[in-house]
This record gives sequence, C-alpha cells and structure tokens, in this order.
Amino acid sequence: MSGPVQAPLVDARGRLKRKLRVSLTDRCNLRCHYCMPEQPRWLPKAALMSREELRRLVGLFVRALGIAELRLTGGEPLLRPDLEDIVRELGALRAQGLERIALTSNASRLAPRAAALRAAGLDDLNISLDAIEPERFRALTGGALAPVLAGIAAAVAAGLPLKLNCVLIRGANDDQVLPLHQWARERGLPLRYIEFMPLDGRQSWAPEKVYREDEIIAQLSALEPLRALPRGHDPAAYYASADGYRVGVISTISKPFCSRCDRLRLDARGQLYTCLFSAQSCDLLTPLRAGADDAALLALIRNAVWHKPAGYAEQPGYVERTITMHHLGG
Ligand code: SAM
Ligand code: SF4
Repeated sequence: MSGPVQAPLVDARGRLKRKLRVSLTDRCNLRCHYCMPEQPRWLPKAALMSREELRRLVGLFVRALGIAELRLTGGEPLLRPDLEDIVRELGALRAQGLERIALTSNASRLAPRAAALRAAGLDDLNISLDAIEPERFRALTGGALAPVLAGIAAAVAAGLPLKLNCVLIRGANDDQVLPLHQWARERGLPLRYIEFMPLDGRQSWAPEKVYREDEIIAQLSALEPLRALPRGHDPAAYYASADGYRVGVISTISKPFCSRCDRLRLDARGQLYTCLFSAQSCDLLTPLRAGADDAALLALIRNAVWHKPAGYAEQPGYVERTITMHHLGG
C-alpha cells in the first residue's frame, strides 16, 4: 500500500498532473473515419489489464500521486459489460482524493445503462456526435444515429451531466456546425467542436482538412454575437452568446494548449502515455505482473511523467507509432 500523496506529480516543464484518462478497451462498435483503421486488429484479451490490475494502478495514481479526475474511455467503454462495476469499484478512491469519474462514449449503447451508470457513481460524460443528419452520421461513423440520440435522452433522464463532442473535418462535416449547434442549443446541451488531429487510423489527416477554431467561430458568429470567455485548464476555448449558452472549441492544431496540459493516459494494456502525440509509452503492466511493489511502480510513473514531451506545439504533424486513437483513448 502506498501512503498519502508525497509530492505533486509534475513534469520537467512544471506542468502539474491532475487528470488521468484510462482506456478500458481498444474495441469499438463504430468505425469513425477519423479514428479507426479500416481493418482494426484488436489486442488479445490477455494483453489487457484485468479489473484488479486496473484498480491497483489507478489507485496508485490517486492515492500517491494526487490524480483527482478520471475519465474512462476507449475504444468504446460501453462494450465492457462490467463498466458499472468498474465505476463502482473506482468510486472507493473518493475517500482517498478522487473527485470525479467521467466517461467518454459514442452513446450508441448507452440508453439501457445510463441510469445504472449514474447509480454506480458516474459523475458525467462526453458523447461524440459528429453529425445530426442520419446519413451524414452513418457516412462518418459507420453506425446509426437513432441509438445515439436515445442514449443522449437516457443520460439526460438519468440526471447525468453531459457534453457533446464533434470532430470537424473539412469537406466531410463542416456543414454540420450550424445544424448541430442549433440542435444542442434547443436542448440546452453543451457542445464542443474538436479540430481533426493527426491520430487517425487511416492516415488520411492533412493540414488542409483541419476545420479551424476561427472558421467555426466565424460560422457561429453569423448567427449571433459570441463573446470569448477567459481560458482555464480546460482544453476547450469557450464562447458565450448573450443568453449565456456556451460553445467550446478544442483547437489542438491551430492553438495547442500543451503548455497547460495537466493530463496523462493509461491505455488498456497498462501503458502510460504522458502525451497524446508521444510515440513512447511506459509499460506499467509488465512490472506489475512481475511482482513490482508500489514504490517501484511509483518510481516508473514519476520518471515517465518528468520526461513528458513538450507536445504537439513543438512537434506538429503525424506521430509514427503503432497505435491510434481507438487504442490509446481520446
Ligand atoms: N468511443 C468513444 C467516443 O467516441 O467518444 C471514446 C473513445 S474516442 C477515441 C474519444 C474521443 O476521441 C472522441 O471524442 C473522438 O471524437 C476523438 N477522436 C478520435 N479520433 C480523433 C482525431 N483523429 N482527431 C480528433 N479527435 C479524435
Ligand atoms: Fe469508436 Fe470512438 Fe473511435 Fe468512433 S471515435 S471509432 S466511436 S473509439
């Protein structure tokens, strides 16, 4: 057992870490072009962390390293039949400093489980929604829109706070900016647009496909005046309309926020990635399975975090590595 937090988890550039994203699976029921390879090869189950291994590693991050916010992601975390159990078990870490358990999901299988996830202790969720017209949605993701909308409705009914996320790709769905905005605004649901990042499994990214923050805001401002809000640690820049409705833009490409990055990523194989754009990871699962004690694992984590790279801002373009977003977790 590790003791209480001893020193803040910081990297060599002075960036404090407070958030951990944990990928629960690399598998997914959708095939979003901007994420999945055409023919994904799933990781063997034996390579994935068991629930017990996940609890041990996440417990270390919370108890000993001061991580306060968890986001469960994937792949599609709802493909895990034990997701409610995972949320419940990780909830025990609230007594040790954990403040939030969030989920990122495509919501296509959320409707029957939203209330149970809420009851298990899920605090909030981000739902991917890249188009509000069924044919466009299918063209982008390979799936049907109706179950996603049912999932959103079920989350609202269960009292789960949610945000919608839309990845924009020039020529593919930049015409969805206004219809999505209108749909979300009518329902009072916060919406964030995400710039297309060079992490897609099909290597189709190109700088000219990035639909930038200034272009998104120009489209929205034609509808009504928007006021830029002061930036905090959130990766999104927020803009408010006169009645207070807010839209966000995660402009990783046009305005990287690497200098304020406070997050880490643990993939489903127990590999720690300190940066979304890093080709290097730190294997935590192999030493854990070989019997490493908490002190040894903590030393590995602290060392990896200390060497966290500067980020996309200093190394733009494709990352040469064998894994993509569906594996690492967005
Ligand atoms: N399946 C879940 C979902 O779609 O929300 C969780 C995993 S998904 C990899 C997490 C997030 O990464 C989603 O919001 C998705 O839109 C985003 N994402 C995936 N590939 C991306 C890319 N190339 N550029 C920007 N965002 C991407
Ligand atoms: Fe699946 Fe999410 Fe990737 Fe789409 S973005 S393919 S839903 S993991």
